[in-house]
Amino acid sequence: MKMSSMMPDVKEVLISSGEIQDRVREIGTQITEEYSGERLLLIGVLRGAVVVMGDLMRHIDLPCEIDFMDISSYGSGTSSSGVVRILKDLEEDITDRHVLIVEDIVDTGLTLSYLRRSLLARRPASLEICALLTKPSRRRVELDVKYLGFEVPDEFVVGYGLDYDGAYRNLPDICVLKPEIFSSAPNM
Ligand code: 5GP
Repeated sequence: MKMSSMMPDVKEVLISSGEIQDRVREIGTQITEEYSGERLLLIGVLRGAVVVMGDLMRHIDLPCEIDFMDISSYGSGTSSSGVVRILKDLEEDITDRHVLIVEDIVDTGLTLSYLRRSLLARRPASLEICALLTKPSRRRVELDVKYLGFEVPDEFVVGYGLDYDGAYRNLPDICVLKPEIFSSAPNM
């Protein structure tokens, strides 16, 4: 594949697109086996989970629907505010459905722990979490992530759906940016 024009901004590739594809395929196979005979509703958390959702759902060989929620816990910077707001709610009624939340990254865990509690109140038949990435050293609340892609160190990562200030979501790899990219941002 041709090298991305964004690569000059990248300090390091942490997880290559090939490794991501292999792991997402494995997770899809595991989900297919564990939900065998069920109809699944995948809930993606906008906007970061869009890329992993698109790949993951094609490796789930079950009747499956998708829906999206938009939740805000971060501004355009790189640290958690701890504030969680629902910006866009689901279209689907999840009562008695088998629901799997699909998220890009679990950092403090505050976002998903809030989302999980609020979805449980709607009485789904089951509710589990799938996250592509986790930063265990940053966790502030306990959270059971049933399907997990990779652990990453405590660094701000971009690519494969994850942004910095709206950009870099379309990088195929999970990357760390050069420090000068952050220091030159107008709103930092
Ligand atoms: P938490 O509530 O777990 O602290 O934050 C989860 C959300 O923070 C993620 O869905 C993501 O939007 C954002 N986030 C946390 N760490 C990173 C990171 O390293 N890179 C990017 N781009 N977003 C992150």
